[in-house]
Amino acid sequence: AFLRDSLSPLYEVISSSSSPAVKFIRSRVERMSESWIWAGRGMKPNRNKTVSPQMKVLLHLGALAGDVGQRFEAMVDRGGPLGELVQWADLSACLTILGHNLTFSTSQRQLHRLIGAAPGQGSCPIQRPLTFDLIYTDYHGLAHLRRAMGLAFQHYQCRFRILDSFGTEPAFNLASYAHLHGYKTLWGSWGLQPLQYMTMFPHTPDNSFLGFVGEDAVKTNDEFKPEIYKKDNIAVVYGKQEYMWQGKSDYLEVISQELEIHGTVYQPSGRASSLPGFVKNHGLLSQENFLQLLRRAKVFVGLGFPYEGPAPVEAVALGCMFLQPRFDPPHSSHNDVFYKGKPTTRQITSQHPYSERFVGKPFVWTVDMNNRTDIREAVESILKTKVKPFTPPEFTCLGMLERMRRYVTHQNFCGNSTAVWEPEPVLRVLLGPLGQSCVDVCQRSALTCDPALFHRFNTPDTFTRIGLGCSSMVQEVNHLFPSYSPWGRLCGLQQEPLLFSCAGSDSSHRRLCPCRSHRE
Ligand code: UDP
Repeated sequence: AFLRDSLSPLYEVISSSSSPAVKFIRSRVERMSESWIWAGRGMKPNRNKTVSPQMKVLLHLGALAGDVGQRFEAMVDRGGPLGELVQWADLSACLTILGHNLTFSTSQRQLHRLIGAAPGQGSCPIQRPLTFDLIYTDYHGLAHLRRAMGLAFQHYQCRFRILDSFGTEPAFNLASYAHLHGYKTLWGSWGLQPLQYMTMFPHTPDNSFLGFVGEDAVKTNDEFKPEIYKKDNIAVVYGKQEYMWQGKSDYLEVISQELEIHGTVYQPSGRASSLPGFVKNHGLLSQENFLQLLRRAKVFVGLGFPYEGPAPVEAVALGCMFLQPRFDPPHSSHNDVFYKGKPTTRQITSQHPYSERFVGKPFVWTVDMNNRTDIREAVESILKTKVKPFTPPEFTCLGMLERMRRYVTHQNFCGNSTAVWEPEPVLRVLLGPLGQSCVDVCQRSALTCDPALFHRFNTPDTFTRIGLGCSSMVQEVNHLFPSYSPWGRLCGLQQEPLLFSCAGSDSSHRRLCPCRSHRE
């Protein structure tokens, strides 16, 4: 595939449909086209100079199809979730610049036409060979693919990539295991390779981090111009629907003592607003106008919901500081309706854990929203702080292009080759403390967990090499293995490769972790 310096092939395939969701995607791609083209020009050629093949790619946006799609579409202009659309827009722009050929599908009828079995005689449809090298879809779309492909679904599932914002940990992915061990959820259990799930933030390296693009402060190689980012004394509140503001008046009132509070809340006509009187509400804005408002604001204020969306990254990229509530105790699938049924054990320590953990001060301020002193002190500190627009490299066009190029070139789940990055990573096997996952164990040593490397040391001699004497050795289907249990000095090896898990942890196992260095 040859890098393109135009997005016109994409405009030809995104229909000029009346669907609000497709319109959102198209207008985002158009608005950001200059940044994409510029980033494409800045890409280095592939390390080994070989040209990677041009892929025929199908993007099936399952969440836009059928009844689910109708409900989703109805909410696009009323404050419904837009994060997935942001990702679809950026993924399609990225793959186009990388030189691949895209086809879109937003309904089951279209999907059938593109890949469905042909009608055969009687009740026996004729399978057609799949002409797409890769199919990006979402959880809804997986069900559509199974319906359309029939028996061929299993044969071709290695070509699927699932856009899955919050991630799917290995324990939830393998149906038989999930069923037996209490990890069965609404979404998991498809038995794909965990790396086929692509997340919005780097939640766990068991999945692939797809991400999206935070608005570039500097679109081209122009110098950063502070005058474009002249800040007014305003705070914009993160929350497109009124219910997100309920019970948050005290928190906002403290902030309003120092900053003018602006909102972009969808307001149905004829209904009186329930927002506090000091809020200047603009109504739901087009993305372009919303970003213009962020350019003028000093602070972007999180209310605690929605969780883990793109907006805080955009805000910091446009020179705002992000103020958000801490969750203590953390939210998770055990105590929170939103995460209930999501195939993850993550503990959510604030509205936006990625920003809290990887961006931090001076850009991100995490406070106890029930403690007026804590809020006031944070606001005072924010007002004394000056920041420049900041986009983490992984959320720039270039970052996303480089990442996607590696995925498309190296991730091959068909056949039995395990994808290993080039150059071959140096593996450090670390033994974690009780209760810690390999994500944490590696991170504490400034390394990253790489699930593709588990198989290299999932052998009995590893325990001896790291000085552990085992009284017994078992090989089991267990997402916590390989690991060591100090009670009884039990050593456990993994029997099921799909269950190699960076995310898994519990209080009676010390995990053996595949850590390697990584680029920031
Ligand atoms: N956004 C918008 N208009 C608004 C407020 C937000 O277009 O009035 C956009 C914003 O730029 C972001 C997207 O909505 O890219 C999704 O934002 P959010 O973080 O709220 O995630 P969601 O919960 O919608 O998935």
